[in-house]
Amino acid sequence: MFKPTIGLEVHIELETKTKMFCSCLNDSEEKAPNKNVCPICMGHPGTLPVINEEAVNNVIKTGLAFGSQIPENSKFDRKNYFYPDLPKGYQISQYDLPLCAGGSLEIGGKKIRIRRVHLEEDTGRLIHPPGADYSLVDFNRAGVPLMELVTEPDIASSREASDFAQELQLILRYLGVSKADMEKGQLRVEANISIGKGEKLGTKVEIKNLNSFKAVEKGIDYEIKRQTELLESGKKIIQETRGWNDEKGTTFSQREKEEAHDYRYFPEPDLLPLSHSAIFINEIKSSIPELPAQRRERLKREYGLDEKEAELLTKNKDLGEYFEKVVSEFDPNLSRDKLNDLINTSANYLISDLQGLLRGVSVADSDFRITAENFADFIDLINEGKISSKMAKIILAEMFSSGDDPKHIIEEKGLTQITDLGEIEKIIKDIVDKNPRVVEDYKKGKANALQFLVGQVMAETKGKANPQIVNKILKDTLT
Ligand code: ADP
Ligand code: MG
Ligand code: ZN
Repeated sequence: MFKPTIGLEVHIELETKTKMFCSCLNDSEEKAPNKNVCPICMGHPGTLPVINEEAVNNVIKTGLAFGSQIPENSKFDRKNYFYPDLPKGYQISQYDLPLCAGGSLEIGGKKIRIRRVHLEEDTGRLIHPPGADYSLVDFNRAGVPLMELVTEPDIASSREASDFAQELQLILRYLGVSKADMEKGQLRVEANISIGKGEKLGTKVEIKNLNSFKAVEKGIDYEIKRQTELLESGKKIIQETRGWNDEKGTTFSQREKEEAHDYRYFPEPDLLPLSHSAIFINEIKSSIPELPAQRRERLKREYGLDEKEAELLTKNKDLGEYFEKVVSEFDPNLSRDKLNDLINTSANYLISDLQGLLRGVSVADSDFRITAENFADFIDLINEGKISSKMAKIILAEMFSSGDDPKHIIEEKGLTQITDLGEIEKIIKDIVDKNPRVVEDYKKGKANALQFLVGQVMAETKGKANPQIVNKILKDTLT
């Protein structure tokens, strides 16, 4: 059996105010082509680059989050090649002294080692109008800070590769260094794949343009299959770069592998080498927020959430933070059991009902109008049995659209739960009298019959009775 080996090279567009070496805006939302350009990022003769400090800090911050070493000395190098989307004819990148070296990320309990994280600049964008015999170029992206993260070949399956990329995306968002949206090209994954027997690694093939996590998985699986079939039929793997065709679900040969010496790397003569002090590194270290892995564990430990809830509230960072705000609104003097119940109900309602209403919109959005205080009041009302789950849905929808507080909504809509037992008993007696055959069925042992009667009572009260209480009184009446 052949064993797959995978290493990833990931490019990440950093979210900075300006480009890497000039003061043009770094605006990925700019629609008008060639708007954010200047003589520096266009590589006009006589211009000089200036290093973007924010970008350097963000790369170091990312490296530190993975436990990378930050060598005291680093420098930029020129990588020379010709392509129409590269106005200078070279890319300023880093070759032998990257900003970050080593580090790792744990995926499903397994350590994936990171080889390096370095900083470079992005290229422009080529547009090929369908049917036209020319291409267009948009340089808005040329010179945007681009971080490259390279893993060791420690990944063993397509699933592991996709999990790695997803966790990386989440970490980048927690760090606030990139929006890391794959569809927008802010996070671009290239996968190196080889298959082999025993310890020796086989010849690798690199796949480009994997534009989604699904594509990462499918592209790798396709390549494993293609290489296995080649080797099994006695053929050799050619080291090459292949593209991923998402529609056909296949990879295709783009070019044979280039070597580092093809690029004529040399130290960038227009920039001084970088050297950072330990104080500077420590400052960046202290700015690193809680990361997803820590948050998952804390949510479980602190709130007793289960694996799935903790995962969801970590992945959806805004919702997780809102959850914690809601919980902080509850009276801390309540008994541990009561508080746990409230926390539980909060998590349930946030994950199911509220997410349903949000439909992908974030609770951090300015349009979101339910304050944490109102949400906590709402949960209190549910747990005190003042509103049924049916009413809760109506009230929550109203809170969502109007931003009103739940008590006010209840008053205004007359949604108070019937708490008068006498009134409920009266309605139950009425329903029992009207349905002698169902009552008969129940007495014969048909469990469904009871559910039918509960339903009738709930309908009669327009959902304002507490179904548990109705259930209990009905059972008592019928036995
Ligand atoms: P190159 O010099 O061709 O770019 P590198 O050694 O720099 O190759 O590695 C590039 C990426 O390919 C890294 O992510 C690395 O982990 C991965 N890689 C290296 N050798 C293999 C292999 N035999 N199979 C799969 N991935 C590999
Ligand atoms: Mg490479
Ligand atoms: Zn510029």
